Amino acid sequence: MATNITWHPNLTYQERSELINQKGATIWLTGLSASGKSTIACALEQLLLKEKVTAYRLDGDNIRFGLNKDLGFSEQDRVENIRRIAEVSKLFADSCSIAVTSFISPYREDRDKARELHVNSNLKFIEVFVDVPLEVAEKRDPKGLYKKAREGVIKDFTGISAPYEAPIKPEIHIRTDLLSVEESALQIYNYLKEHNVL
Ligand code: ADP
Repeated sequence: MATNITWHPNLTYQERSELINQKGATIWLTGLSASGKSTIACALEQLLLKEKVTAYRLDGDNIRFGLNKDLGFSEQDRVENIRRIAEVSKLFADSCSIAVTSFISPYREDRDKARELHVNSNLKFIEVFVDVPLEVAEKRDPKGLYKKAREGVIKDFTGISAPYEAPIKPEIHIRTDLLSVEESALQIYNYLKEHNVL
């Protein structure tokens, strides 16, 4: 633990926000593998950027291959994975950008900690339950992961051999078996408009 560090007072969030004319938030997508988190995150990021709103996706590619490449899938590592993502997304939100995270994040406690981190700094945390029946996710299986999980090749796979704790009161609930990708992204976009984030 570093002890000789000082937090330098600088611009406040409010001042930054006024200077760049944008508010920050973290949009936390959670759901089963193949529920549509990454697909929706991409669509939403594009939608926001086209509207000149700075947004950035945090997903497996830029987190597990970079910042979190030292982490595996043990329970301890999964918790640490989510903790770091929560801290990074908080920095994006604090910089007045829109962070869009797409991770299964199966445990309520971990998501609640991510929320708490934001709320304690007066930053918006919007939990989005990307919901689909397990059978539909398993049928989609774009990466063949469910098949491997059923065969026992992948252990502790969320929904098959590891639990998924669905959000109890998410800000947004999307059923991706009932909506198109565009409609799903738009549902989040409209929420942001209605809640004065945009
Ligand atoms: P996840 O990131 O949750 O693991 P992906 O986005 O990688 O899921 O894959 C979801 C799959 O479901 C994609 O092949 C996508 O085209 C399909 N899909 C069908 N309908 C939807 C929808 N409404 N929203 C998102 N994805 C959808």
